[in-house]
Amino acid sequence: MRSTMMDLPLQVARILEHGSTVHGTAEVVTWTGAEPRRMSYAEVGRAAARLAHALRDECGVTGDERVATFMWNNNEHLVAYFAVPSMGAVLHTLNIRLFPEQVTYIANHAEDRVVLVDGTLIPLLARVIGEMTTVRHVVVVGEGDPAALLAAAGDRIAVHHWDALLADRPDTFDWPELDERDAAALCYTSGTTGHPKGVAYSHRSIYLHSLQICLPEGFGLGPHDRELAIVPMFHAMSWGLPYAAFLSGASLVMPDRFLQAAPIAEMIAAERPTLAGAVPTIWLDLLAYLDTHQVDVSSLREVIVGGSACPPVLMHEFERYGIDVIHAWGMTEMSPLGSVARPPAGATGAEAWRYRYTQGRVPAGVAARIVGPAGEPLPADGVSVGELEVRGPWVTARYVGETTPTDEKFRDGWLRTGDVGTLSADGFITLTDRAKDVIKSGGEWISSVELENALMAHPAVTEACVVGVPDDRWGERPLATVVLSPGASVTPEELREFLAGTVARWQLPERWAFVDAVPKTSVGKLDKKVVRSRYAEGGLR
Ligand code: ADP
Repeated sequence: MRSTMMDLPLQVARILEHGSTVHGTAEVVTWTGAEPRRMSYAEVGRAAARLAHALRDECGVTGDERVATFMWNNNEHLVAYFAVPSMGAVLHTLNIRLFPEQVTYIANHAEDRVVLVDGTLIPLLARVIGEMTTVRHVVVVGEGDPAALLAAAGDRIAVHHWDALLADRPDTFDWPELDERDAAALCYTSGTTGHPKGVAYSHRSIYLHSLQICLPEGFGLGPHDRELAIVPMFHAMSWGLPYAAFLSGASLVMPDRFLQAAPIAEMIAAERPTLAGAVPTIWLDLLAYLDTHQVDVSSLREVIVGGSACPPVLMHEFERYGIDVIHAWGMTEMSPLGSVARPPAGATGAEAWRYRYTQGRVPAGVAARIVGPAGEPLPADGVSVGELEVRGPWVTARYVGETTPTDEKFRDGWLRTGDVGTLSADGFITLTDRAKDVIKSGGEWISSVELENALMAHPAVTEACVVGVPDDRWGERPLATVVLSPGASVTPEELREFLAGTVARWQLPERWAFVDAVPKTSVGKLDKKVVRSRYAEGGLR
């Protein structure tokens, strides 16, 4: 029997229409260092229509052509997030922090036709635009001299200015009805190994994922919320925060390029967000800042931490300010939400904390399993350790440009996450490492994350990164790279003694490096590849 329900496609345009009408008075605020720039969601709706007209009529965008963004998190980026998919084109969020050759590889692979760029990022784009062979139009947002772009790309490109381009255009657009399975947005993994790989989100996957973000077991959003979206809009769609804001009526606070602890603290005090999302390093910096500055952060009820394992010490430090750190796990390939660590009903005290330390519980839209070395499913008993595999309607089934899924990343309709850990019967994932970061010492595995978390609990340590390095006797042994708090001093022996309280003796690192900063990837994670190669070159002993 077929259902009697209306067969209406799930589309980004519907999220836009809902947010810009029903929640038309909600606002997006962009930090500028001076007076913040504000737009109501009703205005975002009108601007999205104007941008769609401009892209179609001035830049010739038709069908599913790709419109790239090379932007910080701000009002105009939000407008593009809605306008481009709603008109049927595909939004491609370029990661501004990648190496030039990666950016050009990605733009050419995606066949980007238009690039929207923040004026402040023109110098960065000018380094790559000459090699972006499919780009024909560049739209500059805000102040900025486009001369360097024209010098690099010549008359292959036409340069427009956002304000002039959108002026005098209709502020409604007849959004077309689309196939919900068509691509709405494109994001490339940051390419920790090999070339970056593209993931194409569908209208349907974005819609379903946004609903999950809003649910209490997700980020629990509603019209009373103000989301501070620090996680870049080019990093896994800012974890779904922009679309979820329009669905739920939550307002948005955007940091633009002001990502240091001082302006973030100022933003929190002035704009009073209730919830914020970022990778651990951002929060560690903010905590250090709060230690020495009096800032009112009382508006925050929750801080979402993901992208890398959240050190327990970070959660406890935030408790001091009455803020709950909510640990979440995900991947670009998963839109990105995979799990959120909210303790089950009835768990209190130490038991609740044990749940909160995990990577979290999978929602109904994500099925998870743990498999052994030959791909054999292992029990979801919270003990069996193996690679985590996932599937679901917002999980990619292959990469852009591949006709069949590769064995390396996919197995029998499951995505191989490359993450190693356990799954409990009640759906909680605990990750011990990425498969490629596990330290294999004399046939036993050492979790680099466990050592990092234990080290960061030492009062003198602000950041720790542990990698496996070659060892003649054991195959691999851990190297601990440590950043100390200002003025602190501690010896490797003292740190080993401290670790011995929580970690088995045979796992204690013999090799130590004290550094001013640990190298980070383009999305702010510890860059273990760089740490390993610095060690190999003799730079870390
Ligand atoms: P990249 O692979 O380029 O870093 P992603 O942001 O898609 O880009 O990375 C996803 C990976 O990040 C996951 O497979 C996992 O290894 C790691 N990750 C994300 N969240 C967490 C978390 N809460 N705990 C541990 N690892 C995490």
